[in-house]
Amino acid sequence: MRVILMGPPGSGKGTQAASIAKRLGVESASSGDLFRDHQRRGTELGQLARSYMERGAYVPDDVTIKMVMAWIDDPAHSAGFVLDGFPRTHAQAVALDEEMKSQGGVDRVLFFRVSDTELVRRLTGRMICRQCQTPYHAISSPPKQECVCDACGGELYERDDDKAEVVSKRIQVYGDETEPVVEFYRRRGTLREIDGEATIDAVGEAVAAAVSG
Ligand SMILES: [Zn+2]
Repeated sequence: MRVILMGPPGSGKGTQAASIAKRLGVESASSGDLFRDHQRRGTELGQLARSYMERGAYVPDDVTIKMVMAWIDDPAHSAGFVLDGFPRTHAQAVALDEEMKSQGGVDRVLFFRVSDTELVRRLTGRMICRQCQTPYHAISSPPKQECVCDACGGELYERDDDKAEVVSKRIQVYGDETEPVVEFYRRRGTLREIDGEATIDAVGEAVAAAVSG
């Protein structure tokens, strides 16, 4: 079973990747994992990717696709795999489809749908101590005293990346980029939507049903 996981940051797909892989008896990887692995091993692709990242530029699709295809073609993944967060653009989806034609393409694409309002709620509220860098969250791990670090008494602040308007923009960019990919797989009949706002148990059951049926 060859499975692809899609979903915006905060949708919870990352936490599901390992359990889906375990259930299917295959390995999982994200495109970020593959980048890090290639850079650690100092491969040609890793060095190429790094040259773009150092300039603050996006790594071109063909470089990312080569890394992904090398991983897919690894004999260890011939029985299947779980790929987390790739393809992310329509061009990547088309390229992956072309590359995998001889293998019959991907079997399932799981899209974790979460409303924008809920994503903003999940992704904002993070605070960090100016002195010791201890992270806090307004809802899931609040400090005992507002804006004060439990560990050292330092002042807590919100990083620019975690501010609501920046988070909203990131979610919008993700949606614009991936909606055509979702449509691509919907037309193929391989797309399964997972309600990412359900309880963890319910999400787990929906995922199990999606990869077995
Ligand atoms: Zn502190």
